Amino acid sequence: MSDLQDLYQEVILDHNRRPRNFRAIEGGRRAGGYNPLCGDKLTVYLRLDGDRITEAAFQGSGCAISKASASLMTDAVKGKTLAEADALFERFHHMVTAAPDAPVDELGKLSVLAGVRQFPVRVKCATLAWHTLRAAAEAREAIVSTE
Ligand code: ZN
Repeated sequence: MSDLQDLYQEVILDHNRRPRNFRAIEGGRRAGGYNPLCGDKLTVYLRLDGDRITEAAFQGSGCAISKASASLMTDAVKGKTLAEADALFERFHHMVTAAPDAPVDELGKLSVLAGVRQFPVRVKCATLAWHTLRAAAEAREAIVSTE
């Protein structure tokens, strides 16, 4: 198990160092998110074709978990409809809030964040990007807080 945990750690650190889709999208939808418990601040950008996400990106600063989660999320939701992205968020949320010894749902690369369930205070770091995505989809300009 510790080898697996090392691997997960490696993926998270890689996405933190070299976040994917780390840029602004002009002319799309966007929303800001803030996690006061940790100080994570993100802006999520979306471009939609009908209800399908054709581009997703983010900018901001925060801890490794929040940045890696945003990086993985923007990759994961590209090409999905808003309803599919929302369903994925439900599954992701379930995964990171499950009991530490519960089986990990198969969520592709997003599964690397399953370890967060052992650190409840980190759940908000891992879900901030997803809450902000939801706000961007609804094109709300308000700042989202996890509190
Ligand atoms: Zn954080």
